[in-house]
Amino acid sequence: MFRLTQHFAKVTVTIMFGCLWGCTETTFEKIFSTDHFDYYLEQGATPPCDDTGLWLERYYHANAKFFGVELSAGKKIEYYRVGNNETLTSECGPHLGGCTKETKVYIGSPINAHEIVHANAYLLGDPPLLFQEGLAVILGCELGSDSSGPLDLSETIEDLIESSSFAEQRESRGSAMYRTSASFVRYLIDTFGVEKFLAFYASASRDSTYDETCAIFQKKMGARLDDAFADWRKLPPTLPGDVCLRLMDCGEDIPELADGEVHTACGPSGGFLSFQEALRRFHITEGKTLQVEMTPSVTQPQPITTVSFFRCAGGNVTGYADDVADFRYKKNQGWYVDPTRATRRFIFDVPAGDYVAWFSARAETAIYTEVNQSSGPMRTGCATANEPLVLRHDDDVVLTSRWRERPCIGFWCPGHSWDVQVGPTGGTIALSSVISNGQIPFAPNKVYLCSKPCPAYPDECEVITLDPQSQIRPISKQEFAPGTVVHIGAPLTPFEDHFSLRMRLIPPCNGNVPCVEPWHGPR
Ligand SMILES: [Zn+2]
Repeated sequence: MFRLTQHFAKVTVTIMFGCLWGCTETTFEKIFSTDHFDYYLEQGATPPCDDTGLWLERYYHANAKFFGVELSAGKKIEYYRVGNNETLTSECGPHLGGCTKETKVYIGSPINAHEIVHANAYLLGDPPLLFQEGLAVILGCELGSDSSGPLDLSETIEDLIESSSFAEQRESRGSAMYRTSASFVRYLIDTFGVEKFLAFYASASRDSTYDETCAIFQKKMGARLDDAFADWRKLPPTLPGDVCLRLMDCGEDIPELADGEVHTACGPSGGFLSFQEALRRFHITEGKTLQVEMTPSVTQPQPITTVSFFRCAGGNVTGYADDVADFRYKKNQGWYVDPTRATRRFIFDVPAGDYVAWFSARAETAIYTEVNQSSGPMRTGCATANEPLVLRHDDDVVLTSRWRERPCIGFWCPGHSWDVQVGPTGGTIALSSVISNGQIPFAPNKVYLCSKPCPAYPDECEVITLDPQSQIRPISKQEFAPGTVVHIGAPLTPFEDHFSLRMRLIPPCNGNVPCVEPWHGPR
């Protein structure tokens, strides 16, 4: 789908920027062209990584499919990678970190999903800024991970329907209302459907008055804008991952996550901040649980490789970027993979659908992956799970569940009860969860280890407390024989629909077997 149409050995373009903020003469060099982009680099700016054109084309195609419009023949999106703030200010004004004018993008980063959305969207329409920015944030997936907590949606965007008010507020208060606008636009798409929203997007005008926009909204969406705002305020999408809609990353030409090796290389960020990346799609079948096992290749120096999992239709899976193994640090040696915990297994008990794994490292590296589907370790009632999760002495397990529909049974809550089987070494069970801002947002503060699958009272079980302030990771006081099935349960977590807990088996030690330190460091 992508080919270099021309090579530009040295074509420089001198641009006189619009004189609103003072005229500046800047030199850009066109460094490559693809079917739909001309890519310019400002003198002094760092060139993007080699496959940048390929990723730009992927963004373009995913957006064009969503909007249902293509560039007319011979036209291209001009992407200007800006190298200094003065140039950015002279083109975008003093309040913006980047901007897109019709189909010309001005930005410091080598690939910017948000600005490319603007260029694609311009082919469809030019509605009030609130809808333009809200949609670009949704499709640009830029709100961060869920571990930063629910979005602050307190900006009164109801007053910012006219583009002049939106721009004025942006100048005085920055872009805080972007995320609020994104939450509202996401609500509109989910409630009225993409088709109606895009029909509105195509007909509304950036310069319309409040009343004119209301009229077009009512005509295209079949509802009053005021009512839509009121309904959205009752139950707005609040987690960063839930607002995002992943198009490019879930495209058909992104390879599937399978047994084999994943190599990080020039990725969808264009090597920004020296990140090398890899994307892999995967599907979760209704009623099934997916297990993904990861083992990074051992190199010197060792790049720490992280992986995030996203649902294509919106939603973070684990809610944060997790390391693909247990990395440790030694003075004089730097980071290395702990050979006794070189593998990490991710278990997903999440709604059926399409997902993507996003790998990220500061250098090219490889990760061996193994993918298995099972009926899973979760209990939906009082019966033992069909396939308890086997805990081994040589890996970490991250169990993630994002079910809200299951009812609580006593103190067992939705998606919060599962069974584990102790591996051949026997041992005790250690638990941990990601700590963010002094809190454990995705795990409960208590976990129950029980010998019965459905005890009537928590005091029939060993209660393990997860304390975000404590540096010591909690460990069960029990030593379990090989093959023991332990029934685990937990109350709801602070983010009620999110659940992600790390578990590991610590084998017994004696005079012949040295004691592994119980549970080290935060990584
Ligand atoms: Zn924007």
